[in-house]
Amino acid sequence: MHRINDTLSQLQNQIQAAACSSERNANEITLLGVSKKQSDEKLLEAATSGLIDFGENYLQEALAHQKLLADFKLRWHFIGPIQSNKTRAIAEHFDWVHSVDRLKVAQRLSEQRDQNKAPLQVCVQLNLDNEDSKAGVQAKHASELCRQINGLDNIQLRGLMLIPKQRNNYKAQRTIFAQARELMHKINAQNQLNMDTLSMGMSADMDAAIAEGATIVRIGSALFGPRS
Ligand SMILES: *Cc1c(COP(=O)(O)O)cnc(C)c1O
Repeated sequence: MHRINDTLSQLQNQIQAAACSSERNANEITLLGVSKKQSDEKLLEAATSGLIDFGENYLQEALAHQKLLADFKLRWHFIGPIQSNKTRAIAEHFDWVHSVDRLKVAQRLSEQRDQNKAPLQVCVQLNLDNEDSKAGVQAKHASELCRQINGLDNIQLRGLMLIPKQRNNYKAQRTIFAQARELMHKINAQNQLNMDTLSMGMSADMDAAIAEGATIVRIGSALFGPRS
């Protein structure tokens, strides 16, 4: 029982320290444990240790993990690429979706979300490095997409998500995260939106993301160890 429990509290301390050094309140930062390709045993340890937010990339694996942890009161976040034929299951089984990058997917999620449930909490995924092979909307199209998604029923547009390419120095990491933060403020102002969520920062760049305003950090290997 020890390992994940200890790592979880170390990570929470690290979040606290990073928040403190940028004069932020750690309470506004959610640790999202990214549980893809991790063992059932580790997931159970994490839930038992009090982890509430779980992030998943692959639908089938996610559904199996949800079944495994059905006795815990958890929040499930879909953070992987979304194929149109998977939107129904995602709308049914998740609380949050971080990886929306086109209107069609958002429309399907909205139509397929049960109206009796809380609205699906959605982030728009950005591609700020302009890598052709990568998911995410480019900065110049992000404002229009956010405006359109905001008009959909059964969805609450919460903010932006970012998976920047790896940068190995802290300053360069901060620069790209700062761009996401500034873009969110600009899009809010342009469209009179109230987005409040920056889903950014992973195991290798969490501190930089927190310094630039991350409100959800998505941590896989630093919490659960290497993936199988
Ligand atoms: C796998 C993954 C993570 C976690 O990555 P680590 O480097 O293991 O922390 C975070 N976000 C997304 C979108 C991922 O696919």
